[in-house]
Amino acid sequence: MYKDIATPGRTKEILERYGFSFKKSLGQNFLIDANILRKIVDVADISPDTGAIEIGPGIGALTEQLARRAKKVVAFEIDGRLLPILADTLSPYDNVRIFHQDVLKADLHAVIAEELADVSDRMVVANLPYYVTTPIIMKLLTERLPIRGMVVMLQKEVADRLAAKPGTKDYGSLTIAVQYYTEAEVIMTVPRTVFMPQPNVDSAVIRLVKRQHPPVVVDDEGVFFQVVRASFAQRRKTLFNNLTNNLPGGKENKEQIERVLVALGIDPRRRGETLDIAEFASLSNALAPLFG
Ligand code: SAM
Repeated sequence: MYKDIATPGRTKEILERYGFSFKKSLGQNFLIDANILRKIVDVADISPDTGAIEIGPGIGALTEQLARRAKKVVAFEIDGRLLPILADTLSPYDNVRIFHQDVLKADLHAVIAEELADVSDRMVVANLPYYVTTPIIMKLLTERLPIRGMVVMLQKEVADRLAAKPGTKDYGSLTIAVQYYTEAEVIMTVPRTVFMPQPNVDSAVIRLVKRQHPPVVVDDEGVFFQVVRASFAQRRKTLFNNLTNNLPGGKENKEQIERVLVALGIDPRRRGETLDIAEFASLSNALAPLFG
């Protein structure tokens, strides 16, 4: 077994050898605690049948832990300066393929079809770049990839939003999207001291396991997510005001919106954040004929 990359000493030595300077704008905070990385791989349930998909391998700290347990690892790294470093640090592993690419622009279906066709299990595992956490998670959720789910490190504040309960300050449209596609569980919080350089916020590891079927029946997903976004547009406004102000054509359909709410037994004066996913589903199904 080779020495872990994720120690303060080895990480410093690699960075110095290559004269690497961190780019804050790319969310470059590297993990220097191998125990945390092994825990991430454990909770992702990575086995010799798994194809792991990593976003932002950095200098390979998590990649090597994945490579030791998975059948294959496919990783997307946006920063070209890291490619020669990864070629060096990951040279002991022949089951890793690095793509020099912005993951947000990557055709993940095509890469999975090419690189991970022969695995029976696929999982995204990443220490995400914090400046693009939400777009990355939304891409992974909405593209309906053939994956089991994801285990990702992100800002604690975002993890709290993903797993929030109705009526709390963290509950919002991101919560509903995550609940619609997955079962979410915050696994652990992680102090900033295990990163180099240290970020300004604490972090958390969250596991999202893809649902076979959504937890609610939605007639038109486009309208469902439009209704959810509109309901949270201005958190201090009532549900009725948010729907009429933020749905396209909402103002012209004020009376019908009020009628729908009353018929469903949803008080128009409630705030969007008090509705659970089942209420959003019945509301959007009733509004779909008006806005679909
Ligand atoms: N996995 C490493 C670790 O745990 O030490 C590095 C994690 S660091 C928080 C995030 C990594 O994502 C950096 O290597 C950064 O260059 C890369 N990155 C940032 N934006 C990206 C994007 N849009 N697509 C792919 N990689 C990106």
